[in-house]
This record gives sequence, C-alpha cells and structure tokens, in this order.
Amino acid sequence: MSRLSEILERWEPVIGLEVHVQLSTRSKIFCGCSTAFGAPANSHTCPTCLGLPGALPVFNLRVAEMAAALGLALGCEVRERSVWARKNYFYADLPKGYQISQFAEPICEHGALRFFVDGDEGEEVRVAEASIVRIHMEEDAGKSVHDGGGGHSRVDLNRAGVPLLEVVSAPDLRSPEEAAGYLKALRSIVRYLGISDGNMQEGSLRCDANVSLRPRGERALGTRAEVKNLNSFRFVAKAITHEILRQAELLEEGGVVEQETRLYDSERDETRTMRSKEEAEDYRYFPDPDLPPLHLDAALLERARARLTELPVQRAERWVAEHGLSVEDARTLSNERGVAEYFEAAVQAFDGPGAVPAKWIVGEVLRELGERNASIEALGLAPDRLAELMALVEADTISSSAGKQVFAALLGNEKRPRELVAELGLEQVSDSGALEAVVAQVIRDFPDQAATYRGGKKGILAFLMGQVMKASGGKANPKLASEALRQKLEEE
Ligand code: ADP
Ligand code: MG
Ligand code: ZN
Repeated sequence: MSRLSEILERWEPVIGLEVHVQLSTRSKIFCGCSTAFGAPANSHTCPTCLGLPGALPVFNLRVAEMAAALGLALGCEVRERSVWARKNYFYADLPKGYQISQFAEPICEHGALRFFVDGDEGEEVRVAEASIVRIHMEEDAGKSVHDGGGGHSRVDLNRAGVPLLEVVSAPDLRSPEEAAGYLKALRSIVRYLGISDGNMQEGSLRCDANVSLRPRGERALGTRAEVKNLNSFRFVAKAITHEILRQAELLEEGGVVEQETRLYDSERDETRTMRSKEEAEDYRYFPDPDLPPLHLDAALLERARARLTELPVQRAERWVAEHGLSVEDARTLSNERGVAEYFEAAVQAFDGPGAVPAKWIVGEVLRELGERNASIEALGLAPDRLAELMALVEADTISSSAGKQVFAALLGNEKRPRELVAELGLEQVSDSGALEAVVAQVIRDFPDQAATYRGGKKGILAFLMGQVMKASGGKANPKLASEALRQKLEEE
C-alpha cells in the first residue's frame, strides 16, 4: 500500500479551489489597452493601467457579459447590481497599491459545476459535482521579472488591468483527482462559452488550491493551507498530494497546520511557506469611489445568454444515455465544443447507432487532429462525408481496413467517399460466385492445410482465411468469404 493510500484510511482531504480565468477580451477591463500576450514589456500600458494619479477607470462591459455567461452556465444567481471594491496591498507589480475587485456583492453566487473524475486503476471514470460559492470580476496585476541580471528585478505592466474572473468553489473536493477533474471541466466550459482560451501555459487559467485534512468521520473542517498559482493539471494534483502528505505527517506528530499561503516548487515536488495567511480585514476592502455599482441591463443579459450551450459533462451524460457510449468516450468527445458539435452532426447524418460515429471520431478523427495539432474545423472532413464513409463500412460495401484508407483519402478535399471507393478499387467482393472461385483456388493451393482442417484442427481456418483475403487483394467480404470457405471445406 502506498503511503498516500495508508494516510487516506485515517484522514479525509478537503479541498476548495480558487481559479483565475483570464477573459479573452481584446482590451483591458478599465482602459482601452490591448490584452495581447507576448508584446514587448510595458508596451500595452496607459495612465490608467500604470496607476498614474488622476487617471480614472472606465469599465469594459464585455467583461460583465462574459462573467454573466459563466454564471448562468454554472446555474448561479447573477446579480443585477454588483459592487466594485478596492483590495489594498503593496506589491511592486501593483502600482496603484490596490486591485479593483469585487468583495461583498460579487456578480455571481451559488452555482455548481459537474466534472469527470479519473477512476483508480481498473475503475471507471465517474461524474462528481462541487458547489460554486461565487464568481467575481477583477483586474490582473503586472508581472515581476526576476531574471533581470545584476540582482535586479523588473516589472512588466502589460498584464496589469487584464480582466479576470475568480471562480471560488466550496470545500467540496475530496482528492487530487477530483481537483484536477474540476479544473479540467472549468477549462472546457470557458472555452465552450468563448470567454477564455483556457491556456494554462500562458497563465489564462491559474489555480490556488486550499487543502486541509480531517479525521475520517469528522464533520468539522481542519485548518487549511493555500497553495498558490498552479498552472497545469498535473501540478494541481501533485501539489495537493504533497500537501496531504505534509499535513498528515504534521498532524500525526501532534503538530498543527498553520493557516498560510504556500508555493509549489514543481522541480522539487514540494510546497514551501510564502507568507502567513492574510485575512479579508488585512486588505481593507471598501467600495471603489471611482466606479459606480454595476447594473446589468436586459440587453447585456441577453448577449450573455446567447453564449450558452449545453455543457460538456451534461452532453456527455446525455450521450451515454441516448447512444450507450462509454463514459470515457463521452468525456473525450465532449471536451472541446467543436468536436462535440462535430460528433452530433455525424450522428445526425449517419443513419444508425451513435456508437459508430463515436468509434470513428475517437479512433480516427481525434488521432489525426492530435498528429496535426489541428482543430476539427481545419481537418477538411465535413461530418456528412464521414457519415457516408461509416455507412459504406457498416453495409459491408468496403472492409473496415479499406474504410481507413478512404478516411485518409478524404482529408482536405471535397470528394465523396463513394467516388474514392471506386477510384481506389476498394469495393468489397460480396458476389458469391466470385468468392467461391477464390475459396476453391485457395483450397487447391493449400491442400495440406485443408486436410488439417478436415482432420478436426479447426484453428487452421484463420490461416486459410488469410490466404483468401490475400488472393482477393484484401477485397473479399470477410464474413461471406469465411462462410464460403467453411462450407467448401466441410462439403468435400
Ligand atoms: P479566502 O478568500 O480568505 O481565501 P474563503 O473562505 O473565501 O477564503 O475560501 C477560499 C477557498 O478556500 C474556497 O475555495 C473554500 O472552498 C476553501 N476552503 C475554505 N475552508 C477550507 C478548509 N477548511 N479546507 C479546505 N478548503 C477550504
Ligand atoms: Mg484566497
Ligand atoms: Zn491601459
């Protein structure tokens, strides 16, 4: 038994995530500067996002539209009137000395997020749910660059004022796998809604994990430590695992967990104290006098609603029920909106069970996309052409291996699968006369093997079938050919 599973027999982990989602607006939240990633340092700045005295913020309403869209998608109450607050703290990358955020009356509260959780070895993927406490809007801070040389650090304020949503979960998660699953689902949803690219490497999705332990059976929550700025699914799971081990060791030695903020060091796979946990009072939150309360009008809410679509996990669950897909395949197909819609279009176009398009898309289409690192729109295979190909294979007009050849030949052009079958000469031979002739020839060519079969060693049939397929140039309908072969062997 691993040390972790031994610990988990006595201790229950309790995890809550605070996720920062960078919104994909073109301009910043309180000024007109560009949000584009990777520009020369400090080139996307103006008096407002530099925090110069006297410069006033002007709210970018697109941010509220995106916040409301996420709130509605997660079943939150969306406040018609919400309030901007100043969160005061000092840091080199925060020139104003405060961050404009929301505190007492955030734009969204009380929702829920459904997500997939990887099973332990041998166990199936399952679906779980966590409550969302709140979603609020805020501005990002700048970025300190510590590799400046000469012992100096530098500050890049391009990111200062980039719009963020902070999504706060209830302490409902119970394992590193659940935390990773929650974050993956949130990433998938913000991409579905078109409000963020969810790019974790570029910091568009950043996660702080709050972790505590309590003895199994205990209801009261233990003291938590918060691990900051986790920027990959793997690091989230690893940092939480590390925190569970660290806290269990402390508690079992009779120590206490300090409420503090820790940093995860991915190179050493450990967390380190950053600072003792600040309380809300430390920030001296107060309503921002430069910004009136935000009112959402009907037109804005309408635009937010227009972004909504059935969510990935809900879609996947429906497909499992409607088409009998495995949860694993349904998860794979629902992760990206483009793929999910492609699957649904293929199901529509294909006159048969949904499991067939699922198999083709998971097996062929997604493999191809992975190899090309391309989006499904760039593949050049409209779902109706895939559906026609699937129908040809299902009707045994072509074999499944010929189907894969046609699939490859379909990409990037407008030809119909039927055309390609004719062009490539892949039509299966199902004509009984033709099949019998091939079968008879194989039996003449391999008399010893035929005798072996007739002597009772039926396993040799696979060899003879192989010869039939070879003799037919791979085009014999395998089902009919093997029937013909068996019949011929038995009647002589
Ligand atoms: P703060 O804003 O000070 O960080 P909150 O109480 O709003 O604190 O909680 C922040 C996050 O910490 C939430 O995601 C919440 O679910 C989580 N959390 C709160 N208490 C615990 C606990 N005892 N163990 C684990 N997570 C917790
Ligand atoms: Mg916090
Ligand atoms: Zn600016």
